[in-house]
Amino acid sequence: MLSHYFIKLQKQLATNFTNHFILDVLMIDKKFKLFSNCFMVKGINRAIILDNQRKNFYILPNQIIDFINEYSGKRIYDLFQDFKNDKVILKKYIRYFFNNELIFTDNDTNLYPPISNNFDRPYKIETITLDLNLPILTLKNFFEVKVDDLGVSCLKLITDDFNFKKIVDTLHFVDKSKIKTIVIFIKYNIGIETELVKLRKKNSRITEIIFYDVDKINDSAVKKFIYEKKSLSEVLSMKIYNHHDFVLSMENFNESLIFNTAYNRSIFIDSDGDIKRHIEDQSIFGNIDITNLNDVADNKDVREFWAINKDKIFVCKDCEFRYICPDGSIPYKLKETDPFYSTKINCNYDPYKNLWNNA
Ligand code: SF4
Repeated sequence: MLSHYFIKLQKQLATNFTNHFILDVLMIDKKFKLFSNCFMVKGINRAIILDNQRKNFYILPNQIIDFINEYSGKRIYDLFQDFKNDKVILKKYIRYFFNNELIFTDNDTNLYPPISNNFDRPYKIETITLDLNLPILTLKNFFEVKVDDLGVSCLKLITDDFNFKKIVDTLHFVDKSKIKTIVIFIKYNIGIETELVKLRKKNSRITEIIFYDVDKINDSAVKKFIYEKKSLSEVLSMKIYNHHDFVLSMENFNESLIFNTAYNRSIFIDSDGDIKRHIEDQSIFGNIDITNLNDVADNKDVREFWAINKDKIFVCKDCEFRYICPDGSIPYKLKETDPFYSTKINCNYDPYKNLWNNA
């Protein structure tokens, strides 16, 4: 049985393998283990090993992951003993892991404990998406009184009615807050870039200005801005296009094991000040004029929504990229009794065929 998947691997290994590695006699008598910053994730068809330190991932057959799990902490010699008939491919396979520095050897691999997968943050709400159509006094009161205690670090401002003065005034209210990054989503009108270029230069906390509902992206588009033909709802869902969109970091990985990385510790505030979990939410959890946001963060339904990680979403649950994928398609249940959530937006990646639709 092992020879079956070794043969499958042979082609892959042949292309990746470099000959500078020599499997020496000393090494073969030692135990091997995956480096603790590397994690294996199985999908329905194939698996990846994530190297969170180098921000890289390696695609492998699922059987190899099972195999590493089974032999981790055992001697390489034991491997060769157990699979005498597969020595050649086994050597190549071991070399592949060493050459990519995914495994190490030692006499006692127990001396290298795993890295913790705990995820905890000191603050209850980290991201607020807020509609700039709110009255200016409401915005002033909100930023001056309500935000800092929560520890909000990212602010997403949205507007379908471009009002430069209102944006400037709001940024002024945010000035003294602890907010670190600001992203502004503006419904596009031709020529609105001129005033925003200077604003962006002056305000280092603005990391992105994104125009949505753009009819035609032409040559005069300003490089500093992002132009999207999509609706605001689609833009906020952060649909992924290819593997370049994946997020590789220990923190993101740990968070994705338990939470939806697109929505965890985030709330949406609409133009009436109503507090929701996301832009399409039919439920309201209070209003910014009267509701303490700490209570919203403690609400059972809000916390349940934050915890819909990709293991709980149809298709994504079978995808080998589910712990590095930032896709924020809104999860919903067709029926309360459904075991998994669905999303309206089809992903560009098909984990059943292992193909990118836009490739
Ligand atoms: S199937 Fe889901 S987890 Fe996989 S790439 Fe698409 S959105 Fe991400």
